Amino acid sequence: MKVIVIGLGAMGSSVSYHLAKRGIEVVGIDQFSPPHAFGSSHGDTRILRLGYAEGMYYVPLVLRARELWKELSNESGIEIFSETGVLSVRPNKEGSFKNSLKGIESFGIKHELLSSADISDVYGVIKPEDDMIGLLDKESGVVHAERAIETHLAKAQIAGAKLFTDERVLKIDFSSTVEVKTDKNTFSADAVVVSAGAWLTELLTLPKLNFEVERQVFFFLDVGNDEKFSPENLPVVSIEYGEPARNFYCIQNFGKGFKIARHHEGKISTVNNADREVHLQERDDIENLFSRFFNGLPGNVLESKTCLYTNTPTRDFLIDFHPDHDNALILSPCSGHGFKFSSVIGEISADLLEKGKSDFNLEEFSFEKHYIDR
Ligand SMILES: Cc1cc2nc3c(=O)[nH]c(=O)nc-3n(C[C@H](O)[C@H](O)[C@H](O)COP(=O)(O)OP(=O)(O)OC[C@H]3O[C@@H](n4cnc5c(N)ncnc54)[C@H](O)[C@@H]3O)c2cc1C
Repeated sequence: MKVIVIGLGAMGSSVSYHLAKRGIEVVGIDQFSPPHAFGSSHGDTRILRLGYAEGMYYVPLVLRARELWKELSNESGIEIFSETGVLSVRPNKEGSFKNSLKGIESFGIKHELLSSADISDVYGVIKPEDDMIGLLDKESGVVHAERAIETHLAKAQIAGAKLFTDERVLKIDFSSTVEVKTDKNTFSADAVVVSAGAWLTELLTLPKLNFEVERQVFFFLDVGNDEKFSPENLPVVSIEYGEPARNFYCIQNFGKGFKIARHHEGKISTVNNADREVHLQERDDIENLFSRFFNGLPGNVLESKTCLYTNTPTRDFLIDFHPDHDNALILSPCSGHGFKFSSVIGEISADLLEKGKSDFNLEEFSFEKHYIDR
């Protein structure tokens, strides 16, 4: 069997690795040289949380994803997953963590509920409001995103995958086989995986879907050598506040600074028209958030970049064969929370292509679930 993988970001790099590891012939193509800063997968780190309020059906997937990240770390000798814990903080209302706790308790995931006073006692740097509570998800942590992509791609190549970077796919022709035309070559194969991130709808016409590309901004703040911001002393922190609720998250200083960003609230755009500049007002906003919820002054901005979410209306992923072409597997696992799953999505994709089925329930990720006129 031969498979072409279009897009070698978080998803495509993992798919290429899992296919090649099984002895399947892989041709991987990307218009840039991943990891790069134009799509959805840059910025060094991503949160892996096991508490999944979005739906219980995510929990078996994220548990397997974490296992695979650990395996990849062990096999490669590179730290790809760091188990630092994830602390979610939000106003203490009835049922505040009801949905997350449902999954956490059903799957026996280690956790602790913390009052506002506990949070400030244990982590001196966090300044929660008095009416807030926290859920510490102890077995969660951080995936080192760019390292993960590099490692998947390197291991895919070792296993025999042929990767073509700085090569843009222009057209996909479907018949009993698949023909992919790029700006340099024409490739044919038995099947294609389209993991093109925010470019998905530029490549394929998917009339009944309504995906949006949302611009996001993230910052790395200078916290010097302050050990209180290190992964040894601080979990990932995500904070929900205000009415209507707003969210931001922070990732510890792994050497590049303290990462801080809002989740959603970004401008809806297209992949080609997204504003790639970070503005002063966005920087002020982040510095204000830091001052409101953390002790100390926000340090200089060491790095700031834009990044793209590709959102489905339900914010669930799309993992399914094209409705008209059963030799085309379409992956759009973003909506701002896909990276952590990319390890298991690689494995699932290999199962779907090799065996025609997966051990996981993928019902919520089908085309059918995403149709506008459903
Ligand atoms: C700021 C930010 C923070 C995030 N935080 C988290 C988090 O904490 N936890 C989490 O789990 N998820 C998080 N996410 C979401 C996660 O990063 C994405 O779900 C994931 O990176 C999507 O990967 P992808 O492979 O689908 O897309 P991408 O990485 O963008 O890959 C798509 C690839 O396709 C290539 N391509 C497109 N069109 C063509 C073409 N015509 N020819 C050749 N190549 C093509 C592109 O060049 C690109 O390399 C975050 C996202 C952002 C933006």
